[in-house]
Amino acid sequence: MKILIVGAGIAGATLAYWLHQAGHEITLVERAPKLREGGYLVDFWGAGFDVAQQMGIVPELRRRGYVFTEARVVDRAGRRVASLTPAAIIQSGERYVSITRSDLAAAIYAALGGAAELVLGDTVQALAEQNDRVRVVFESGRSDDFQLVMGADGLHSVVRRLAFGPDERFERNLGIVVAAFEVDGYRPRNELVAMMHAEVGFQVLRVSLRDDRTLVLFSVRHGGAVPHDREGQQELLRSKLAGSGWETPAILDAMPAAASFYFDTVSQIRMPSWTRGRVALVGDAGACPSFLAGQGSALAMVEAYTLAAELARCADHRQAFDAYQQRLSRLVLSKQDAAVGLGAAFAPANRLQLLVRNTAMRLMGLPGMANLVMGKSFHDAVELPPFTTDRHAA
Ligand SMILES: Cc1cc2nc3c(=O)[nH]c(=O)nc-3n(C[C@H](O)[C@H](O)[C@H](O)COP(=O)(O)OP(=O)(O)OC[C@H]3O[C@@H](n4cnc5c(N)ncnc54)[C@H](O)[C@@H]3O)c2cc1C
Repeated sequence: MKILIVGAGIAGATLAYWLHQAGHEITLVERAPKLREGGYLVDFWGAGFDVAQQMGIVPELRRRGYVFTEARVVDRAGRRVASLTPAAIIQSGERYVSITRSDLAAAIYAALGGAAELVLGDTVQALAEQNDRVRVVFESGRSDDFQLVMGADGLHSVVRRLAFGPDERFERNLGIVVAAFEVDGYRPRNELVAMMHAEVGFQVLRVSLRDDRTLVLFSVRHGGAVPHDREGQQELLRSKLAGSGWETPAILDAMPAAASFYFDTVSQIRMPSWTRGRVALVGDAGACPSFLAGQGSALAMVEAYTLAAELARCADHRQAFDAYQQRLSRLVLSKQDAAVGLGAAFAPANRLQLLVRNTAMRLMGLPGMANLVMGKSFHDAVELPPFTTDRHAA
């Protein structure tokens, strides 16, 4: 089949890889003028790791990524409150790596070996389904027909808007904003230690990267309007975090010099169905669990793999779309529900939540306690379907 994938991120590149394995003809359209670089780190493990293993990219992920030996929680004065071992908490052993979102996407894309047509700096503007195809008009003015259109264009998906309706129907704002940026030459550094500090209303995470870079991630409780320009967003952070302890003032001072600056509201996308007609959504576009889940990238890969596997297995796309939804909707919902509960840990709303968070962190540092504290939220109750390419793809 001739298939259009919108968005060349983690979900889009994974989907392109597996659809290509099944013999489909793929076009990837990416809005950015080049494949994204830098950005925030994602902890990558779980069933998504199995998909990465099947694609043979784990050695590359290890080369580009980091394996943190400690997550250290500190108080206003920098004193250690808790110390955790990330791999033990997520109970992943060797099957875990922290990697920038863009490096993960790039490694997946490289595995494609140029097998898909990549169109950069463009996006879809209109979709019209006509019998056995979808007529697509691109922003560049070009138009083309495809048998299927896959929206892998992230939380603010245009495909979702065009095919399913306005964002308000599906987006659930969790009342937190997140900002991530990289600064050069920041001191102090703590190699392979993720430093965390929380007060009422926010958490700041600082990790030391290669080449003397430092990545900072703020999660801040904020339910009001959000500025759209970088200056306004940084001003919001400064006003919310004024008078905060630990290294917060120094990090805020370093912030304006950051080369790239990511800022967004923390939202989930909850939809009764991820498919409509000949259009399907994968990754954050249809099922964003929010960054609080800490598993969106792995889920995006699981979704992309499952959708491609079902298309390879089923007689037609309708059956495949149904099977895709059935296999994963429970898993996605459970991750989303768990993530909502974690908001108090990433941006405690009051002193009690801060106390509970710090106590939970201390407990999780004790051997065998992570499972008790976190319950099943870090386990992927999903069985990946086998990938068969017997069926003809045309
Ligand atoms: C701060 C933060 C921390 C996170 N930490 C973790 C973590 O620790 N572990 C984890 O697993 N997940 C984490 N996540 C979640 C994870 O990043 C996402 O779930 C994952 O990136 C989803 O992949 P995706 O391909 O669906 O979307 P994206 O990664 O957002 O990719 C979408 C792609 O589509 C492109 N695009 C967007 N709009 C259009 C358009 N209109 N037309 C064409 N292309 C378009 C974008 O440029 C991008 O290339 C975190 C998220 C955030 C924000």
